[in-house]
Amino acid sequence: MIRFDVLILGGGPAGCAMAVELAGSGLSVGVLERTRYDDTRLGDTLPPEARVWLERLGVWEACQGVPHVTSPGIVSLWDTPAPAETDFLFNPYGPGWHLDRGRFDATLADLAQARGAAVFTGSAPRDCRVAVDGGWEVLFEIDGGCERALCRWLIDATGRKAWFLRRQGMRPRAQDRLVGVVAHFRDCAAPDQRLHVEAAPDGWWYSAPLPGRRAIAAFLTDSDLLPRGDAPLRSFWEERRAETRLVSAVFANGVLEAPLRIVSAGTAWVDRVAGEGWLAVGDAALAHDPLSGQGLRQSLASGWRAARALREAAEGSVRAGDEYQAWADEGRKAYERERASFYGRVTRWPDAPFWSRRREQAAVPGSPGPLAPPASSRTEGFVRRGESGARRA
Ligand SMILES: Cc1cc2nc3c(=O)[nH]c(=O)nc-3n(C[C@H](O)[C@H](O)[C@H](O)COP(=O)(O)OP(=O)(O)OC[C@H]3O[C@@H](n4cnc5c(N)ncnc54)[C@H](O)[C@@H]3O)c2cc1C
Repeated sequence: MIRFDVLILGGGPAGCAMAVELAGSGLSVGVLERTRYDDTRLGDTLPPEARVWLERLGVWEACQGVPHVTSPGIVSLWDTPAPAETDFLFNPYGPGWHLDRGRFDATLADLAQARGAAVFTGSAPRDCRVAVDGGWEVLFEIDGGCERALCRWLIDATGRKAWFLRRQGMRPRAQDRLVGVVAHFRDCAAPDQRLHVEAAPDGWWYSAPLPGRRAIAAFLTDSDLLPRGDAPLRSFWEERRAETRLVSAVFANGVLEAPLRIVSAGTAWVDRVAGEGWLAVGDAALAHDPLSGQGLRQSLASGWRAARALREAAEGSVRAGDEYQAWADEGRKAYERERASFYGRVTRWPDAPFWSRRREQAAVPGSPGPLAPPASSRTEGFVRRGESGARRA
């Protein structure tokens, strides 16, 4: 039986930021990460403002070593007939980065470990329950076997999967059916390093260069607007791509690396992000529409903020959980307003279901309205925009 003050489920940006901030503060910290950071991760563009949080966590210098392509700005065809350009030249935080996400997350995990956290990769929880003397007892898989951990606080940082929340019957509420049809390309010669964003009649596109002459392109639409089957999906994607004016420039001469992948990309949240002996951070608490471009920044921020709440609770504050909840509520309301405002600006296709659904939802803020999937199928970041080996304590 291993004992921790804090056990964090999920070693993505939110979980690792929390571990980095808590380790060395007098609390013992464990992280269970399902992968060995050798999977293909999405959410590659780190906006300039994320630097604030990396500096606050004391990891900005160390992150310079993560492979990245500098992002000098954004070019978008959103609500105007001509491309709108945002240049980061005068941004006080400098440029953004198009990251190798696997290496970014693994670097944060290494930094947490260097500060004293016990990071277990290739390890996932199998079961958890309230311990006899309070706190949580967690059964987790590691090295082909199972071990038990006891902790005072359990953190859900498992991203959109929200493993702990769902297990407790707190399913995140999906606000729409947005999915991304994602393609990765290799051998790209992309002279333009900006993030490209473009609205289309039944969704929107983004594309960005990645380190190693790679690139990503994704078409975001509602799941019910997609055809079924691999071949129809590929034709659908190619037809939409042929109609684009901007985004193809990034990957035009690249070679498709793997079949198209469909991923959940909608907004979803839980009303409660803090409870007796637990907190939810990052996408587990509020999964961002990629249009916001703020998912990574917000995950780092929520990890940092949750770590502060736990330190205050350890020092005897009885209000720390409430304050974290209030911080999350305020952030979610600002996110909702911004999401409605960005989607509401596109008026070019008044009768297209993708856009009319979003207008209707914006008319009743906070209500899933016609966008939400039926309750039975609810599963699950706006334009401003591999390493392996289990680590043991
Ligand atoms: C298509 C798409 C594009 C995006 N593009 C951007 C972008 O360009 N910029 C941006 O800022 N944001 C972007 N986002 C959002 C961004 O990816 C997320 O907001 C961010 O990754 C959330 O971080 P997180 O740590 O909360 O969750 P995640 O990054 O999902 O990390 C969760 C971690 O938990 C692990 N895990 C999951 N289940 C378990 C389990 N049961 N046990 C143990 N470990 C587990 C996972 O392996 C992972 O390491 C995008 C999202 C999508 C869908």
